[in-house]
Amino acid sequence: MTKRILTVSCIALLLGACGTKKDEMKENPFLTEWNTPFGVPPFDQIKTEHYIPAFEEGMRLQKNEIDAIVNNTEAPTFENTIEALEYSGSILDKVSSVFFNLTECNNSDEMEKIANEIIPQLSNHGDDISLNAKLFERIKTVYDQKEELNLNPEQMRLLEETYKGFVRGGANVPAEKQARFREINEQLSLLSQRFGNNVLKATNEYQLVVEDKAKLAGLTEDQLAAALETGAANPETKGKYVFTLHNPSLLPFLSNCDNRDLRKEIWTAYAERCTSGSTNNTIIIDSIVNLRLERANILGFESHAAYVLDDCMAKTPEAVNELLMNVWKPAIAKAQQEAEEYKNMIKAEGANFELEPCDWRYYSEKLRKEKYNLNDEEIRPYFSLENVLNGVFDVSGKLYGLTFVENKEIPTYDKEAVVYEVHREGKVIAILYMDFHPRESKRSGAWMTEFRGQYETKDGENIIPIISLVCNFTKPTANKPSLLTFDEAETLFHEFGHGLHGMLSKCHYKSLAGTNVSRDFVELPSQIMENWCRNSEVMKSYAKHYQTGNVIPDELIAKIENAGTYGQGFVNAELIAASLLDFQYHIITTPTKISLPEFENQAMGSIGLIPEIISRYKSTYFQHIFSGGYSCGYYSYTWAAVLDNDAFEAFKENGLFDQATADAFRTNVLERGNTEDPMVLYKRFRGQEPSITPLLRNRGLL
Ligand SMILES: [Zn+2]
Repeated sequence: MTKRILTVSCIALLLGACGTKKDEMKENPFLTEWNTPFGVPPFDQIKTEHYIPAFEEGMRLQKNEIDAIVNNTEAPTFENTIEALEYSGSILDKVSSVFFNLTECNNSDEMEKIANEIIPQLSNHGDDISLNAKLFERIKTVYDQKEELNLNPEQMRLLEETYKGFVRGGANVPAEKQARFREINEQLSLLSQRFGNNVLKATNEYQLVVEDKAKLAGLTEDQLAAALETGAANPETKGKYVFTLHNPSLLPFLSNCDNRDLRKEIWTAYAERCTSGSTNNTIIIDSIVNLRLERANILGFESHAAYVLDDCMAKTPEAVNELLMNVWKPAIAKAQQEAEEYKNMIKAEGANFELEPCDWRYYSEKLRKEKYNLNDEEIRPYFSLENVLNGVFDVSGKLYGLTFVENKEIPTYDKEAVVYEVHREGKVIAILYMDFHPRESKRSGAWMTEFRGQYETKDGENIIPIISLVCNFTKPTANKPSLLTFDEAETLFHEFGHGLHGMLSKCHYKSLAGTNVSRDFVELPSQIMENWCRNSEVMKSYAKHYQTGNVIPDELIAKIENAGTYGQGFVNAELIAASLLDFQYHIITTPTKISLPEFENQAMGSIGLIPEIISRYKSTYFQHIFSGGYSCGYYSYTWAAVLDNDAFEAFKENGLFDQATADAFRTNVLERGNTEDPMVLYKRFRGQEPSITPLLRNRGLL
C-alpha cells in the first residue's frame, strides 16, 4: 500500500522572507534550512518538542501565503493563483511528512498526544483553505479562461486538478445549500467513526474459550500455543485456549479445527457482528448511504458512485459494473466446482451435512494439503532478506538502469533503518530508506511513503525524492539471518514497486508527482513488480539457499506456482461479491430505506451468490466502505489487477527485461505521476486499453 500524508498543499518556499523569529524558533530544525546530505530531515536534531511550534508556525505561514493570493490586487493568473497555491505551505509540509511518518514507524505516547492536539487544528486549517470563497473565485476565474492561457499539459493538469479538488470539496455549492452540505459532512464523519468503533467493540467482545484440548484436534502446536497465550492475558481464562474474531486467530481456526460445532459457533459470531444490541450498525448504514446520496446530489452527481468514480481511472459506474461482472461470472462458476469437490469430500467422510460457509476454509485447506503441500519452513532458507533485496535491486537495475549504494552517513530516525543513494546515469536521483523488521513503536503491515516527494522549484531545479519503505518482516535471530516467507518476498517487491513510482518521478509539480495518482491506478506499479518476484527464471537468479548457496529447486518453484492459483473460485467470488455489495449501496439515485439483512440478501441474490459463500465483508462490518475511505472503491483492487496483469503481458510478449518495453513503462507510467489522465498514460505504454483476459487466465478463471 502507499500512504498519504495529511497535508493541505505543498512545496518549498524560501524561509528568509518570513520575518523575525524568536530564539527558540531559530533552534527549531523545521524552521531552518537542512544542511544534511541530500537535504534529508535532520533526524538526529529533531526532538518531540519541536513539532507543535513548527506545525503552528507552518499553518501561520501558509495562511499568510493564502491571504497574499486572495488579496492580490492584480487579476488572477495561473502564476499568481494556481502556482502560488501549489508552492504554499512548505514548512507545514516539512513538519507533516516527518511527524506523520514517524507516528507510524517510531511512535510513542508523546507522539500520540501531539497528534491528538494537532489533527483537529490541521483539519480546520484545511477547511479554511478549501472553503475559502475568495480563493475559489480566483481559481475559477483562471479555470474559465483555461483555453486562452497557453498552458503546457502539466500546467493544464494542475489547473484542472486544483479546480476539481475545490469543487469536490464543496466550494461551488450554492450559498443556500452550504450549511446543509457542512452538516452532512459532519454527520458522516461522526457516523463513520461510530460504525468503526462498533466493529472494533463487537470484534473484541467475543471470545471462544475451550478448556478441553481434545476438542481442538486439527490445530497445529503453534496455533494451540498462541491460543493459550491469548488466554493467559486474563486471570479467568488462564490455562484455557482462547480464540478471537481477529484474522490471525480466526482464519487458522476455521481452516484447521476438525470440530464442526466449534467452527460454526465462531463463524456465526463473526458473520453476525454488529447486527443487533449496542453495536448494531444497521441504522447507521441506512443514514450513511442516504447522506452520501444527498451530498452527491448537492455536488451535481446523480449518485455517490458517480461522484466517487468521476475522480478515478474507471470514471463511470458502468465501467466498474462491467469489470466486476466479467470477473464475477467465471469466478462463481469456478467456486461452484470447488463446492462440488468439498461436498464429495464430506460424503466420502461418511458425514451427513450440507456444506456451509463455516466449512469452506476447512475443506479447502484439507484438499490444498493433499494436492500441494507448501511448507513455509521449506521455502524460507531460499529467501533470505539479503538475497531477496539483491533480487529486487537487480530487477530494477536491468529494467530501469538503477543502482543502489548504501550511505551510512545519512541520518536516520531509527538505528534499524538503512539508507541508500539511488543512482541512474551517473546521478543520484533519489534517497531510499528501508526499515524491515517489527518493533513496538511500529504499526503492523508494510507500506511505502515519502519524506519528500520529487518536484521542481520555481527556478526549475530538480528536487530529488526521499522515499521510505517500511515493513514488518521476520527478524534475524542469533544464528539465522532474516529468512522470509514467499508472501514477505512478494511484499518487498510490491512495496519496492511503489518506491520506483516515487523514485523515478520526473514531474514539475509535487502534487502531481510520484504516487499522487487515483486509487485505482496507484497499485499498478507495485503489483506489476510481484510478477518478477514469482517468475521462475528471475527466482533462480536470487532465491539461493542462505547456507549452501544452492539455487531453489524446480520442484519448490512448482509448488509455489500451484499454490498461487489454488482455490481461486472462492477467493475471487468473495472479493467480487464484496465489491458488488459496495457498488449496490452507492449507485442508488433516490433516497432509499435500507433495511438489513433484506438489502444485502437482495443484492447478493441478484448476482447469484451461492449459500456456501458470503461476501468477504458483510454490510455491518464492512469497514472499508462505511468507516474507511473506500466507499465505492473496493473494486479498485480488481481494477488494478487487470492493469498489472495486462501490463506484464507486454513483458511476456517482448522479453522479461526487454529494454524498449521497460523504457515505455518508465517514461509513460513511472515518471509521469498524475500529470495526465491515467488511461491516456496507460494506452501510450501499451498501445491499447487494458484487456481483462490476462487476469482471468492468471487466476485460473478462463
Ligand atoms: Zn500497494
